Amino acid sequence: MSGPDASGAPAAPRFDLPEPDPFTRPYWDAAAQGRLLIRRCASCGRAHHYPREFCPHCWSEDVAWEEASGAAVLYTWSEVHRNDLPPFGAQVPYTAAVVDLAEGPRMMTRIVGHLAGGLRAGMRLRVVFRALGEGAPAVPVFRPVGGRLDDQAEFTSADKEIR
Ligand code: ZN
Repeated sequence: MSGPDASGAPAAPRFDLPEPDPFTRPYWDAAAQGRLLIRRCASCGRAHHYPREFCPHCWSEDVAWEEASGAAVLYTWSEVHRNDLPPFGAQVPYTAAVVDLAEGPRMMTRIVGHLAGGLRAGMRLRVVFRALGEGAPAVPVFRPVGGRLDDQAEFTSADKEIR
């Protein structure tokens, strides 16, 4: 991870750090504790992600936080071998993915801890949380449930597995 070096030079700009605001603060606070929050609409009953202050399905503002189970299935994914935006360039290769949460919302994330070639559409996943740097907010990523996992490659002790 990059940071200010000994010369006092400023850290390279980063494009991966979320910027919590008063609305999303509960989400990031929960993430730091290894809990994934989604938003559910009391009007139409549907859940959504990323968090919005109104329901993207029916536009109701009667929306509240809810803790997700952390279970998901893999919808699609892509191995990223090149990304010029810091700090992604130092993180390649990584697996960008779209997953379907058990509660319904589809979210963009990363897959970690899997063996090369080991991903299949529809496979079961479980959320883990990864801090993207010193003092940075933890973000949800997903790893396969069961099967052979490659704990050396991408899953680190810094990740927090919920429950
Ligand atoms: Zn709604």
